[in-house]
Amino acid sequence: MLYYSLKNNNNFVSFEKAVLKGLAPDGGLYIPEYIPILKKNFFDQIYNYDIFTIAISVIKPYIGKSIPDEYISNIIYDTLNFPFPMIEIHDNIRVLELFHGPTLAFKDVGAKFMSECLSFFYKKIGKKITVLVATSGDTGGAVAKGFHKKLGIEVIILYPYNGISSLQKKQISSLGDNILAIEINGNFDDCQNMVKKAFLDKEIQKKYILTSANSINIARWIPQMFYYFLAYRQIIIEEKKKHPIELIFSVPSGNFGNICAGMMAKKMGLPIKFFIASTNINDTIPRFLKSGKYNPTSVKKTISNAMDISNPSNFSRIWNFLYKKNIIELKKVLYSYQFTDKETIDIIEKVYKKYNYMLDPHGAIGYLGLKKYLQKFNNTLYKTIFLETAHPIKFLDKMPYFIQKNIVFPKQMKTFFNSKRKIKKISMINNFNIFKNWLLEK
Ligand SMILES: *Cc1c(COP(=O)(O)O)cnc(C)c1O
Repeated sequence: MLYYSLKNNNNFVSFEKAVLKGLAPDGGLYIPEYIPILKKNFFDQIYNYDIFTIAISVIKPYIGKSIPDEYISNIIYDTLNFPFPMIEIHDNIRVLELFHGPTLAFKDVGAKFMSECLSFFYKKIGKKITVLVATSGDTGGAVAKGFHKKLGIEVIILYPYNGISSLQKKQISSLGDNILAIEINGNFDDCQNMVKKAFLDKEIQKKYILTSANSINIARWIPQMFYYFLAYRQIIIEEKKKHPIELIFSVPSGNFGNICAGMMAKKMGLPIKFFIASTNINDTIPRFLKSGKYNPTSVKKTISNAMDISNPSNFSRIWNFLYKKNIIELKKVLYSYQFTDKETIDIIEKVYKKYNYMLDPHGAIGYLGLKKYLQKFNNTLYKTIFLETAHPIKFLDKMPYFIQKNIVFPKQMKTFFNSKRKIKKISMINNFNIFKNWLLEK
């Protein structure tokens, strides 16, 4: 399997090269040259397979010869080493919980998978690899944890000094070793801009093998397909192998990496009827599907802050690659609704009181999207699922008071609150040249 840039379809690179580069040199996102279709037999037998076998079958064609088969299996065992439970909350509304990983966010899967791939490439090329990433919260924590103590890999995480929660700050900056946390006296966009400039800088490129760990990197993006396959397997088992079953997913979306992976899973043959992209008031995509006009505005701050993105990078993979700019075809498989902070808080309260289930602000938006669809179409033909992308404890200060009182601390929290770990970070003013000189001199 080879990859090419969305901006130029003449230049093909291997999985290894695409992962090491992150973004193509022309600034385009990498996409696979084709989408492998899984055999009917794979789906007929899916209840017989464990989650590892499924994940290996799904990912192998995308890696090609870049990593040997036995090593891919090891990567998958290490990546999927926590549960992904699915629960029916009420009336055909199921939650797929993706937050049982080490940093309580679904990004743990992509981050771990990518770190294991880079580890393999380091052993092969023998040169230190530097991962440079800007974060508005969850990515930084997941990447720090996933890459901690990986030999030959150094991680530099830029985060805005007042833009992330204290728990997230701890997750990023208390590990140390090969994880360098840099607190920028600016906002997330400033961090992102410094990272982008660094990738284009000739002098920095000379000194470092630099890659990114955002969902633009195919090693972060592609493994997110697993969630959709694992959900299908569980439904098939619950329904006692009855065929055919079709699924509908509501995905809380920010940079649209997760939902884009789901849409690729559908193209591989997974029986998904369609997707609901649920967003907060950063609603470029719901507006686009209504009007056909792509009009990102400035970013608005919300309580579902991991989705405060108005120009989602991965949407270009959906639009240009998966659906070839065909709005009619796209609208058959993608609905999109946006919700306010007030609606988010209200539904967190309501679902907790009525069904004793605690949503986080992102999952709450996923729930709202699914609910809105079901109210409109009252559909019982399909199995309907929303994704819960973070544990509510990560956003405790944004939760209604009586929820704060009742929240149960997950065991992963002990690592961050009970340890004597100190915050180790470098503070830097928002100036690219200072960052550049630091990189060149360190
Ligand atoms: C990153 C993130 C999202 C958005 O995922 P995308 O792939 O960027 O659309 C949603 N919820 C949480 C908790 C996240 O951390």
